[in-house]
Amino acid sequence: MMIPPALEIRNLAKTYPGGVAALRPTSLTVPAGGRLVLLGPSGSGKSTLLRLLIGLETPDAGEILVDGVRIDHLPPHKRGIAFVPQRPALYPQMTVRRNLETVLERPSLVLPAPTIELLRLGDLLNRYPHQLSGGETQRVILAKLLIRKVGIWLLDEPFSGLDPVFRAEFRAELHLLLGLSAVTMLFVTHDPADAWSLGRRVGVLDEGVLHSLGTADELRIRPTTSFVASALGRFNLLGGRIERIASRSDPSATAKFDFVSECGSVRVPVSDSSGIQLEPIHRLTLGIRPEDVRSSPAEQSAWHLVSAEPAGSGWLLTVARGRTRLRTEWRSGSPPPVGTPLEWTLPPERVLWFDGRTGRRLDV
Ligand code: ADP
Ligand code: MG
Repeated sequence: MMIPPALEIRNLAKTYPGGVAALRPTSLTVPAGGRLVLLGPSGSGKSTLLRLLIGLETPDAGEILVDGVRIDHLPPHKRGIAFVPQRPALYPQMTVRRNLETVLERPSLVLPAPTIELLRLGDLLNRYPHQLSGGETQRVILAKLLIRKVGIWLLDEPFSGLDPVFRAEFRAELHLLLGLSAVTMLFVTHDPADAWSLGRRVGVLDEGVLHSLGTADELRIRPTTSFVASALGRFNLLGGRIERIASRSDPSATAKFDFVSECGSVRVPVSDSSGIQLEPIHRLTLGIRPEDVRSSPAEQSAWHLVSAEPAGSGWLLTVARGRTRLRTEWRSGSPPPVGTPLEWTLPPERVLWFDGRTGRRLDV
């Protein structure tokens, strides 16, 4: 296989007329053959970044390099980059065959049979786009990517318009293609599932700022900010503060501290060894992954099961007390019925602490 190019951006920034700073100066590299997924909520600057890379927007500052050579002065079609926009469209008045032929390097070439076969498009070539299902349309779009034989792919939430079944299917399809192709990919999405399944490395984007870059596991297990933790989906994050507990029986005893959540419904002892400064920080956020919360049915509890959904080989339960909610994984067979009182514990070594104002991890 050919070695695909490396993609690098240096201090790339974009503010739209009207003053929206869609992308703050950002630098990153996708090495040759690398697959980077950027995860961010709507409005975080994902499409802006990709549109700058392909040349549909002009940056205010910064550089774009492919294999070390600047390309930001080139028009889109000369950049050697293929781009699948957020709502990819086929030409409605053309058959699938004609749509695919538009990306051939030269009109005299024929469509590559292995690609047509791989994406199961043989029977669809004479249909028009309105005669395709959502999944079939996506396969045609992937075929266009492959046929272009370009070494860099930029994909802008290509699954977002699909229902969950198609989404999983398309993800699998893309996985297969990536395994067979020499490409460097930058994929942006708001869906953590894309990050887990497609990204060798994952970054988190928030309001035009790249928060964190690491392997999916690094981010999942040790998120650097509470925003990163929340972007990953199911993380429990509870705002609160530290309370000093006075010992009535022995006022001279070493001070003890509790974390108390905003509504007061979660209270967790905090030890000196947690690595956080106990007094000066007033607002804290407690973070814990659902798989680290231990829960079990109880005779009586202020907490009740409010919902259960299948997740992986077990269940993801939501337990609530008033407005405070906590998610926990359930692995011992079917979950109890909704409404069941549940008690839970948070193993202290699994709890992560974040500064309530800046969101930065404290226990590092
Ligand atoms: P995302 O793709 O992550 O949803 P976008 O890159 O589309 O985010 O948008 C980032 C920010 O820039 C948003 O606040 C959006 O409203 C703004 N924005 C996007 N395109 C334009 C534009 N052409 N003109 C002005 N503001 C824009
Ligand atoms: Mg977008």
